[in-house]
Amino acid sequence: MKPCILKFGGASVLSSDSFRSIAQLIVGKMNANPRLVVVVSAMGDTTNQLFELAKSVNPNPPKREQDMLVSVGERISISLLAMALASLGVEAVSFTGSQSGIITTDDHSDAKIVDVRPKRILSALDRGQIAIVAGFQGVSLSGEITTLGRGGSDTTAVALGAALGSQAVEFYKDVGAIFESDPKNDPLAKRLERLSYGQAVSMAKSGARVLHARSIALAEKNGIRLEVYPIQAAGQPGSVVGFGAARKPEIVYEEGC
Ligand code: ASP
Ligand code: MG
Repeated sequence: MKPCILKFGGASVLSSDSFRSIAQLIVGKMNANPRLVVVVSAMGDTTNQLFELAKSVNPNPPKREQDMLVSVGERISISLLAMALASLGVEAVSFTGSQSGIITTDDHSDAKIVDVRPKRILSALDRGQIAIVAGFQGVSLSGEITTLGRGGSDTTAVALGAALGSQAVEFYKDVGAIFESDPKNDPLAKRLERLSYGQAVSMAKSGARVLHARSIALAEKNGIRLEVYPIQAAGQPGSVVGFGAARKPEIVYEEGC
């Protein structure tokens, strides 16, 4: 069975309680497919705080060092989620982007994914463990830690879906779906059940920050469906981007290797 990729963003991990509820959601998914790869972002405002911290030491920090610092946010999340799963008796193992084999260009703070070599993830799945992956980060061919740019964890999830042969990537969000207008400002906003990749990209670009535009483009290149679900009610309908898409015969990443 092809692995199922689940993605949880920063708004889904605001406190330590969040990790326990996500762990329960993951356990609920294990019956349908035990081969689960979970991508997580940094908790809440952590990434902003790390950028501020860098600036307080040097208003113009070297980009390499900034990547070393800001990539830590996701590392906090993956380890806490693995701990939460362990407390439920579920074996999980966390991996940084580098350990997951996310290979990128060496453009610090705006790296593009050129390849995914998920050897360690596959071994973990084969051992019956859940693989938990730090979003937003990778390693360049020269061995440097890189980050993909703000909001890059969605792209990590789609790249893993491409590498692992998945048909779909599941995004769990507090807003629960893609709406015609922002439901926080407009309580009558209409939920969009199905969107084309093009519609989703133009919504992402016009400020609807449900999915990151780069992740949608990568999904389209590979024919991967993007499913958005409410985090509070997993399994309830949300939105599907690329409904009816079929996997392309060749895996394509963001840039050629
Ligand atoms: N934590 C990173 C950011 O805030 C990546 C992400 O959330 O996708 O930009
Ligand atoms: Mg974030």
